[in-house]
Amino acid sequence: MEILKSPTGNQLNCKGWQQEGLLRLLLNCLHPDIAKKPQDLIAYGGSGKVARNYECLIRIIDILKNLENDETLLVQSGKPVGVFRTFSFAPRVIMAGALLVPKWSTWETFYELEKKGLTAYGQSTAGSWSYIGTQGILQGTWETFNQVAKKHFGGNLRGKLILSSGLGEMGSAQPLAITANGGVAIIVEVDKSVVKKRLLSSVIDVMATSLDEALDITAGYISRKEPVSIGLVGNAADVYEEFVKKGIVPDVVTDQTPAHDLKSYVPSGFSVEEAAELRERNPHIYEEKALKTIKRHVSAMVSLKEKGAVVFDYGNNLRTQGRKAGLKGALFPSFVAEYIRPLFCEGRGPFRWVALSGDPEDIYRTDEVIKAIFKNDKRIVEWIDFVEKRFSFHGLPARVCWLNYRERVLFGEIINHMVRIGELKAPIAITRDHMDAAAVASPFRETEAMKDGSDAIADWPVLNAMLNCCSGATLVGLYQGGGVGIGYSIHSGMTVIADGTEEAEKRLQLVLKSDPALGVIRYADAGYEIAKEIAKSQSFPAKAVF
Ligand code: NAD
Repeated sequence: MEILKSPTGNQLNCKGWQQEGLLRLLLNCLHPDIAKKPQDLIAYGGSGKVARNYECLIRIIDILKNLENDETLLVQSGKPVGVFRTFSFAPRVIMAGALLVPKWSTWETFYELEKKGLTAYGQSTAGSWSYIGTQGILQGTWETFNQVAKKHFGGNLRGKLILSSGLGEMGSAQPLAITANGGVAIIVEVDKSVVKKRLLSSVIDVMATSLDEALDITAGYISRKEPVSIGLVGNAADVYEEFVKKGIVPDVVTDQTPAHDLKSYVPSGFSVEEAAELRERNPHIYEEKALKTIKRHVSAMVSLKEKGAVVFDYGNNLRTQGRKAGLKGALFPSFVAEYIRPLFCEGRGPFRWVALSGDPEDIYRTDEVIKAIFKNDKRIVEWIDFVEKRFSFHGLPARVCWLNYRERVLFGEIINHMVRIGELKAPIAITRDHMDAAAVASPFRETEAMKDGSDAIADWPVLNAMLNCCSGATLVGLYQGGGVGIGYSIHSGMTVIADGTEEAEKRLQLVLKSDPALGVIRYADAGYEIAKEIAKSQSFPAKAVF
């Protein structure tokens, strides 16, 4: 299969920038520098795909190139199924992905249907073509470890040992975020070639092949309170058990292996190649072995928690798989309930923007502007300074920054203006992660332990998607299974192309207000005081009428 690359520059391949922006984002998800397996159309997160198959990808590209400015393409689980005449302000693409009727929402049914070619797993941003590589999750990870530091260690992680696993496309954000908060990271990764890749791209500082070697290296850094990150080649379950046996208790323990999908998690005793062979030959036995390993992995985390470590589930449904394997009880909390929810209550979430020109200077210019307009917000300024220094661009240059509902609309308008006056070389795609206030229902992650018990209520992401369609987003999608796997989440994505036109300004004004404001209403409705106050305030851009 030919690996297709996103066009760059300011020449159109489509009939308008709204379609062109989506075409570039779609192909960017498969850029070899950011995609996990571009040849299989997998962007990240175990098996998150951008299209059902290669033929569908080629058809989508062709349709986008010929799509009129008043037409809308419908994509059903990565397959283009129809083009409708709508109107110019409507989305150019709407999508639904991996959705199954609730009683049928299991991995077993999903795989059966996938085998028949009827569905595809889009994770979150892969399916909605807004994946931008590790940076997409970096600030969420940075915010999480920042909150961990504030809540448990007086504001930073200096001199603290953090144990985690998985150096995949999302998991790679961990060493950067931990060291940015001053900590010492040991990240266990079963695939040696992945550890080497992360070493070459400076995501980790050192590679180790045994726990003793890793501990020897970290000892000096911990006593000097200096940050360092070690990529340790090994299976997470084996290494976590070794910590328990040695009686060494890290300060923080978490995990980002792809535990949401038993077919992606590598069982103990298997190399990556042996695992691939067994997965192909006997998927049932493979899953059994993966589940047994996860049981040991989770049990070791519980033991470390009992011995005093701060332990949390990092959004991969590890605890649920542990319970499936026979473990009982609460085990340990989820990172969202512990650290991220207060941000959602303020309508603060993972805003991101992508330079469709392909020119890094466009992003650096927006960096200068965001730092100038929000100069009094230390968190925004520190974040942009950190990410500029530590993160080189891969694929289309992009930036992510958690902003609240007022900041998103202001910055969106400014970006559109910069495109209009020619300060940027081409339009900018404004988008976000699905892990946002109104965008997701996920009872083991974003909506775990809601104040009013509304954890499993999935109306909000559906309303969110419909509202974004009415408000004029360029792309809107509704999916299930992102992060935690089939049956455990429903979530929506959106993108608006800021092409400098008045119409784009209107789209941005409406979408960037409605999208986070619905999040504030969702948390206010659930009884969170900060959200209630914001929803009642004069400047709130919607009428909260619940
Ligand atoms: P990925 O598939 O790109 O990478 C997973 C990595 O884990 C691979 O490098 C793999 O070799 C390694 N691995 C597999 N089994 C292992 C084992 N037993 N021990 C050690 N290493 C092992 O996945 P990703 O995109 O990095 O996502 C990781 C998980 O995080 C997924 O479950 C995903 O759904 C979830 N996720 C969480 C968030 C969040 O906000 N916290 C966001 C997106 C995704």
